Amino acid sequence: MTPSKPLPLIAIHGGAGTMSRNHISAEQDTAYHAALQSILLAAQQLLADGGSALDAVSLAVDLLEDCPLFNAGHGSVFTHDETHELDAAVMDGATLRAGAVACVSRVRRPLRAARAVMERSEHVLLVGPGAEAFAERLGLEMVSPDYFSTDARREQLRRALSTDKALLDHDGAALVFHQSAADTAPLDEDRKFGTVGAVALDAHGNLAAATSTGGMTNKQVGRVGDTPLIGAGTYADNRTAAISCTGTGEMFMRTVAAYDICARMAYGGLSLDAAAQQVVMDVLPAMGGRGGLIAVDAQGNLSLPFNTEGMYRGHARVGEVPQTAIFR
Ligand code: ASP
Repeated sequence: MTPSKPLPLIAIHGGAGTMSRNHISAEQDTAYHAALQSILLAAQQLLADGGSALDAVSLAVDLLEDCPLFNAGHGSVFTHDETHELDAAVMDGATLRAGAVACVSRVRRPLRAARAVMERSEHVLLVGPGAEAFAERLGLEMVSPDYFSTDARREQLRRALSTDKALLDHDGAALVFHQSAADTAPLDEDRKFGTVGAVALDAHGNLAAATSTGGMTNKQVGRVGDTPLIGAGTYADNRTAAISCTGTGEMFMRTVAAYDICARMAYGGLSLDAAAQQVVMDVLPAMGGRGGLIAVDAQGNLSLPFNTEGMYRGHARVGEVPQTAIFR
């Protein structure tokens, strides 16, 4: 008997972080679940119609970037100098082609620029003004940098500046909170890693991964995180898995976290979940790395581990009801 083909599958995340249950209102909880649900439904439909994993992750991240609830695209966090610098990457598991941009502040949808690097240049990673000129030349939508700003993110930066580097110190003393839009999110926005990402398996058995971020509040200008680095925050290979990470980028870079999961599967024969759990629960915490990731393999297995209190996440198989969650 031939094994039945796995159902096409999309999984998404909207960042991991520290939970602040006392700030959760039923309305906010509902808003996050509704946003995740509608994005899953759109990507699920694309897969049901025979669309590719690459198109499904691109669509999901497009929608996540446009949603101000998440720190990517509009609603991105501020650097120390009160500017925005966005990073994004995409990878096609069938061909191992990849594209990424880093430190862009005028491209409305950084993930589209990353995909253009993959499909329309001979490079993998373009940064800063060079990446912006490339995107503009190709006719991608450009915006003024203040398009990405929101009052809630400005308030977050103000608090971060007053506590120096509180945003990276998740075990440090709690910040004094002020009532603002950011405070009412289910995950404490000052301790949430706000990257968004998607992984998918399509009807042809192909995998893809995409990740996009505003980075971390109060980051130094010029800092690049794990998101646009192939193998660190984003990776896809049909033979193993598609992975999109969120968390303290520097640790994900030093552990080459996304690729490490694929290597544990390829060389060690581990299952997707065993490999992902090892990296998120053992390897990263051992060096202070906090966050989580979403991962899918070509057999349709799914793993969504995180070592923080919560991670905005969801998944949908074709023909099944989308599932979303924030906390454990
Ligand atoms: N990993 C991202 C970075 O370091 C941050 C995040 O996940 O929110 O830029």
